[in-house]
Parts: sequence; C-alpha cells; structure tokens
Amino acid sequence: MEIKVLPLGLIAANCYMISSNEAAIVIDPGKYSPLVAEFLIQNKPKERAILLTHSHFDHICGAKQLRDETASDIIVSKKDEEGLFNTYLSLSDQFHAKQTPFHADKTVIDGEFINIGDLKIKCIETPGHTPGSMCFLIGNELFSGDTLFSGSIGRTDFPGSNHFEMLSSLKKLSAFSKTINVYPGHGESTTIGEELLSNPYFSEI
Ligand SMILES: [Zn+2]
Repeated sequence: MEIKVLPLGLIAANCYMISSNEAAIVIDPGKYSPLVAEFLIQNKPKERAILLTHSHFDHICGAKQLRDETASDIIVSKKDEEGLFNTYLSLSDQFHAKQTPFHADKTVIDGEFINIGDLKIKCIETPGHTPGSMCFLIGNELFSGDTLFSGSIGRTDFPGSNHFEMLSSLKKLSAFSKTINVYPGHGESTTIGEELLSNPYFSEI
C-alpha cells in the first residue's frame, strides 16, 4: 500500500491518496485538484472511493467534482452526512467557503468495515470535533481527520462539537496499538505511541 499526501485549500487540509494492487482511495479532498482526479483516473481498473473523515468544508469541497469526473463513490459517516448539504454545519458560511451541496453515495456507522478492492477499512467513530467524525483504519495506518493531530486535537467550539465526547474519543484511540501510524487532517503524521507520550490532551482523559 502506498500513501501520498497533498495539502489542499486555504487551511491546508491533508488530502491522502492511497493505492494498493486492487484499490485507489482518496481521503478528504478539501478542494478540487486535477492531481487528485488524475490519481483516480490512472487507477481506473482498480476499485476506487472517496472517503470523508467529517463534513467540514476544508475536507469535502473537492469531493463532488472528483466524483463527477471519476465515477467514484463518496463515503461519509451517517452522523455527519448533513454537512455535505448544510453550509452552516460544514462551516462554509462562517469561513465564506464556496460549497456546492451534494449527497454521499454511502454512509457508514461505528465499527463498520468497508471493502475497497484488496483493502479492508475499519470505520471508527470519534465524535467531538463533529458529531460523526470518523477515523479510518487500514492495516496499521489510521486516518484521523480533525480528531487527532500531532501534538494537538481538533477544535471543539464549532456547531455540533462536544469537548467531553472528544475526550471519550481520545480514550478510545489510547487503547490502540502504540505502533499505529496516524495521518491527521492537518499537519505532520505521527503514531499513537508518540501522542500518548507527548500530546497534552491525552493527560485530560
Ligand atoms: Zn474539521
């Protein structure tokens, strides 16, 4: 499995492009980029999908055009689906972002597995930043959206945010193997072990 990262948009949200023998997945295309479309088009014989960790504008605004151009399904947590067409919940109103409303092709719930080609993806609901924030675990790689960053966590002062739920979500992640690599929605990648040692928010749980 190969992972490439491309920060996109004003707030530099990390868009991940993941490829394996039989799958090509894009996580969080926050802004349309021809490079990301090209990635999915080049991998066309493989099974493809667009996964969204949550429905804030800086993680979703490229998804619709990407789907239109590549015929890949958009997958998001059931509890965050509304933000795809509600510009208050997606923060597009607050940040004056241009968001064309759209719907997901599939919604997922906590504990569900998605099979894309040869990749098995576990959906782990981690509410707090948004009600339906989802981490996606593929093998030893965790895509954590705006739940967990290197040395920090996502904000919990947005519509639908809840700091206590965030702490519960961090507790959930603290039980994961220390060796798991973490790929956040913003900033550098890290590991669960590193965050348990140095992320101050883990001392709150
Ligand atoms: Zn966010």
